[in-house]
Amino acid sequence: MAKSQYATRTCVNCGIRKIQPQMHQKSIYVETGQSKPRFNSGIIVGSMLDDARSKRSLNKAIFGSGSRTYKRKRLVWLCGDCKNKYKGQGGNGNEHGWRFFVFWFVIVPIVIMWAISE
Ligand SMILES: [Zn+2]
Repeated sequence: MAKSQYATRTCVNCGIRKIQPQMHQKSIYVETGQSKPRFNSGIIVGSMLDDARSKRSLNKAIFGSGSRTYKRKRLVWLCGDCKNKYKGQGGNGNEHGWRFFVFWFVIVPIVIMWAISE
């Protein structure tokens, strides 16, 4: 079997699909967790909202027991265009990439669940 074709990779930032040599691989750390809410998400949102309650809960999460954060290294693919954008994780909120999605569909529900569970 001749391997004349490269695998196609999908850019995690914009979703474009290109053959592997045109894509760049990057390792990111994603949090994986169990039943307990992940306090790292609280850090992000709490610091964004400057919420005093988040900070209190954060202290609890750090100094208390039982809450653990699991991080897993994950390899993602980025197109040449997004490779540079992706580095700028400062957060100028008008980006409709994966971070927008992650924020509204992952972090916000986690924080809501986390707030309810108190
Ligand atoms: Zn891209």
